[in-house]
Amino acid sequence: MDIRDVGSFVAGRWVSPGARAREVACAYDGTLIARAGDGDWDVAEALDYARSTGGPALRALTFHDRARMLKALALTLQEHKDALYEISYLTGATKKDHAFDIDGGIGTMFVFASKGRREMPDHQVYLDGGTEQLGRTGSFLGQHICTPLLGVAVHINAFNFPLWGMLEKLAPTLLAGVPAIVKPATDTCYVTELAVRIMLESGILPDGALQFVAGGVGDMLDHLTCQDVVGFTGSAATAGRLRSNPNILSQGVRFVAEQDSLNASILGPDAEPGTPEFDLFVKEVSREMTVKAGQKCTAIRRILVPETQLDAVEAALSAQLAKITIGNPREENTRMGSLVSAGQRADVLEKIEMLRSEAELICGDPEAFAEEKGAFLTPTLLRCNDPDAAQRVHDTEAFGPVSTVLPYRDLDHAIALANRGGGSLVTSVITHDAEVAQRAVMGVAAWNGRVYLNDRDSMKESTGHGAPMPHMIHGGPGRAGGGEELGGVRAVKHYMQRTAVQGSPRMLSALGGRWVPGAPETSGGAHPFTRRFTELTPGETIVTAPRTVTLEDIEHFAAFTGDTFYAHMDDAAATRNPFFPGRVAHGYLLLSFAAGLFVEPNEGPVLANTGLDNLRFMKPVAAGESIHVRLTVKAKTPRNEEYGEVRWHVRILDSAEDMVAEYELLTMNAT
Ligand code: NAP
Repeated sequence: MDIRDVGSFVAGRWVSPGARAREVACAYDGTLIARAGDGDWDVAEALDYARSTGGPALRALTFHDRARMLKALALTLQEHKDALYEISYLTGATKKDHAFDIDGGIGTMFVFASKGRREMPDHQVYLDGGTEQLGRTGSFLGQHICTPLLGVAVHINAFNFPLWGMLEKLAPTLLAGVPAIVKPATDTCYVTELAVRIMLESGILPDGALQFVAGGVGDMLDHLTCQDVVGFTGSAATAGRLRSNPNILSQGVRFVAEQDSLNASILGPDAEPGTPEFDLFVKEVSREMTVKAGQKCTAIRRILVPETQLDAVEAALSAQLAKITIGNPREENTRMGSLVSAGQRADVLEKIEMLRSEAELICGDPEAFAEEKGAFLTPTLLRCNDPDAAQRVHDTEAFGPVSTVLPYRDLDHAIALANRGGGSLVTSVITHDAEVAQRAVMGVAAWNGRVYLNDRDSMKESTGHGAPMPHMIHGGPGRAGGGEELGGVRAVKHYMQRTAVQGSPRMLSALGGRWVPGAPETSGGAHPFTRRFTELTPGETIVTAPRTVTLEDIEHFAAFTGDTFYAHMDDAAATRNPFFPGRVAHGYLLLSFAAGLFVEPNEGPVLANTGLDNLRFMKPVAAGESIHVRLTVKAKTPRNEEYGEVRWHVRILDSAEDMVAEYELLTMNAT
């Protein structure tokens, strides 16, 4: 096989590895496959290119433009999936493992593309929450906004997910409007490099949005400012070294760390042998130990089982692990490939030895494959009989197919042991007892970024203990790094500055591109329902004619709908109620009358009423009172070529101009 020169892409050009490049071997047969690092590129030039070329180009786009860009990138990577699969075998990963790294990475990008279009505006400013009224009359308001940082995101990634690890950070970064410099772990950087080449060659990204560094980053961290972000994934030891860089500390550079973690899985006291939960537990633990040969930050390292079930769990797990065939990851019948490198194998063996000072070997043979060139290791199950006295099992991460069974006395004991991990990415609880689940969550949540509950009801659709989902946060306190990634739009905010802006409604309307109550309203044109999506502007308002609500209306509505609630039917009972002066109109009657007052009935650009948000009934309406409606275009969100969503601010007012009800109406309007 040709030896691949893994170059760096800096300031718009590829730079070859230098004379002191690191050699990288194939994980499963030890042959030399790549050289990487030591290229002749300049840190200042890389940072400047990102800050002065990539950043402005990305910030000129809206969130929707950037979301479309992500979708195009994800589609391009998907087209090249076979090439990515092919090169990924060299890391020791099987085809099933590719589903996590390659499909998972591309899928994550698709989710961010979709969330960017659905949950973020077609605008450069993200409004974080609603306005706050800071003065008595509403002429001075506050609004939190998020805008992109003006620097660069430096992503330093771990070896175990060369593609997912890059894309799960890159997607929210680009969506935020911030350029990235990606530095993968050298052991698997050839996979990341191929994906970077595919993305760059697609021409989808503006210049400077993505740079790639193979090997070391030089003194880059010494030149970052508070406008930059470091997103680090790797071991606690490296994170500790990097985050204590004096410049990172003095400049207040954001440092998001995802570290290693001694994750636990708790078998509920109710989940005895013979229950679906017992079988589910054995399956999940065995899968977590062997997917990616256990090289997953979220893998289960500590298996907490009731002491009465110790033998049953060990027997079932050992039987399950014995079925795992180990070998060349390209072969169909291989269930588990190799570790990433001989160095990694040596490290895991060393950690197993440390664990054995507190735990006995239940299954697995550390000596197996000792003569092989490939970095193979058998799944290794240990048991620690005294988990209270033990320390190593709670703080030593053997980053391979290694896990330790710990017996617990009762649920409180299980919770205390789980928390001995000192902060984890995830703890799972396999139980069918909702009370056990609730107690366990309350006990472990503060020590975990994620808690995964699973039982017979959810097991078919459950996504797996170890799989971080783009919609849910990934990270964890303490030992896990104290960082937070993913979690939908939350992830995008890590690359933006949140700022409280205070000013008049007119100022805030202009800033956010959405009309704010109190800002000027325009009127006088054709009815807004006769105007197309593109023709409407926030602030356009119509005020309808009044309509008197009669007792007959109330009785008719009650009989027609079956809603004969006493407040609408029985004057004495309604009067006894603290909210009503006597019989009043149904709130839904008022909404229906409001629609009758403001709709334009003819076929036109309004295609559908798709919902209603934030409805509040503020003042009851008695028979004889009249209502009218003030309808204002609040915001517009393009959906596709054909139509977009219009958010209308609706106020139902009585004859004294008091607010009877207020809500936001959503319609789809033709473009
Ligand atoms: P690592 O040795 O800590 O390396 C992580 C990254 O840091 C690599 O890209 C490495 O580059 C880089 N690095 C090391 N020293 C550096 C320095 N002085 N300046 C700049 N960069 C430096 O971790 P790993 O062995 O790649 O990954 C395994 C670990 O990652 C495990 O402990 C696992 O639990 C953790 N992990 C955590 C998560 C999570 O989301 N929490 C996910 C995956 C993995 P080189 O490769 O070039 O040395």
